[in-house]
Amino acid sequence: MTIEKLAIHGGPKTITKPFKPYNSIGKEEIDAAKTVVESGVLSKFLGCWDPDFYGGPKVQEFERACEKYFGVKHAVTVNSWTSGLIAAVGAIGIEPGDEVIVPPWTMCASATAILHWNAIPVFADIETETFNINPKSVEANITPYTKAIMAVDIFGHSCDIDALMEIAKHHNLKVITDSAQAPAVYNKGRLTGTLAHVGGYSLNYHKHIHTGEGGILVTNDDEIFERLQLIRNHAEAVVKDKGVTNLSNMVGHNFRLGEIEAAIGIQQLKKLEGFVTNRQDAAECLTKGLKNLTGLRLPIIKTGYTHAYYMYPMILDTNLLGVSREKICTALEAEGLTGLVAGYANIHLLPMYQKKIAYGSRGFPWTSDICKRDVNYDKGICPIAERLHDKDYIGYEMCLHQLEKEDVNLIVKAFEKVWRQLHTL
Ligand SMILES: *Cc1c(COP(=O)(O)O)cnc(C)c1O
Repeated sequence: MTIEKLAIHGGPKTITKPFKPYNSIGKEEIDAAKTVVESGVLSKFLGCWDPDFYGGPKVQEFERACEKYFGVKHAVTVNSWTSGLIAAVGAIGIEPGDEVIVPPWTMCASATAILHWNAIPVFADIETETFNINPKSVEANITPYTKAIMAVDIFGHSCDIDALMEIAKHHNLKVITDSAQAPAVYNKGRLTGTLAHVGGYSLNYHKHIHTGEGGILVTNDDEIFERLQLIRNHAEAVVKDKGVTNLSNMVGHNFRLGEIEAAIGIQQLKKLEGFVTNRQDAAECLTKGLKNLTGLRLPIIKTGYTHAYYMYPMILDTNLLGVSREKICTALEAEGLTGLVAGYANIHLLPMYQKKIAYGSRGFPWTSDICKRDVNYDKGICPIAERLHDKDYIGYEMCLHQLEKEDVNLIVKAFEKVWRQLHTL
């Protein structure tokens, strides 16, 4: 058999045309948006204690539909999941200087939401298997100042929520789950995002379902529910008339979702399970095709869990292969493969944490006396996350494309071609 020359060495590309972009929006969403636009009422929120404090008819219909789907007592929509995370940290009663434990492998907003209330993010390392926060590292990072855990269901696989809730119970902490990448994902038969004190999902354009921008908070706690709604909608102006006496963090925002987005969200929610199943089918094909390549570790799904494959996470055994990740990625990209990500994130290494400059220029909150100890953000505090980011991890962004079977076959072909000629890189 003659071996086809790699594209990087001047041979033909394996993938010659771009895959179809992922698009979850159909006729139902277009019709729903049109009906709202024709009504002329694009938002009905009022930032005072009034029936319209809770938003317009579509916002409320969407929230009731979310409660039903996610099987929770309360859902609160917001204009982004970043807003949702900020509202969640405020609602659980975090005080300035409190420590909240968060993984470094997530989108920056998981940690920024903590800083927003002048609380201190403390980074715990991740598990190699699922890339989620490691409960052992959480325990090792608990101090007398720890008040909460911000867990993330990264890439679409649930974190070990049972272990985290157990730790939280023991140390009297609250748990928030950031399930932006993991809607319709199951952890022992239960939907991720619904198992902490408060959790939720992103409705940003890049997520499984979207409304352009938006987010959904879910909780079974009546008090957190009320506080989320207050923070969403100008809390400070509403508390007196509503008779709210606990004024902590009753600093309100405009985190309100519009009626057009809510109407689209109602339609998107109906399609969520189907979209996730399609993604899972494509990922399974990919796993079948790639599973015999040496030195390539494919996504692991823990027993009793499901995976939504926001990302298709892989680990290279670069020692065994004798080739760097960068060379492998460059060769795959030359074959026409787009959406590869070498490394993911190490939030503790962002300039804001390295220089400890957040609010103002003088190091607030770290240099203020609300911060009770010198929190370490040095390289080395999260060795697994750092090694994966620097050396071994490659992700394939499954969220970018509507992958057909032929597309998956081409991806597999590109990997096989490169793997056969790794020694030439
Ligand atoms: C997308 C994302 C967010 C932010 O959501 P937005 O709706 O874009 O504000 C937060 N956390 C994680 C893990 C995400 O993937």
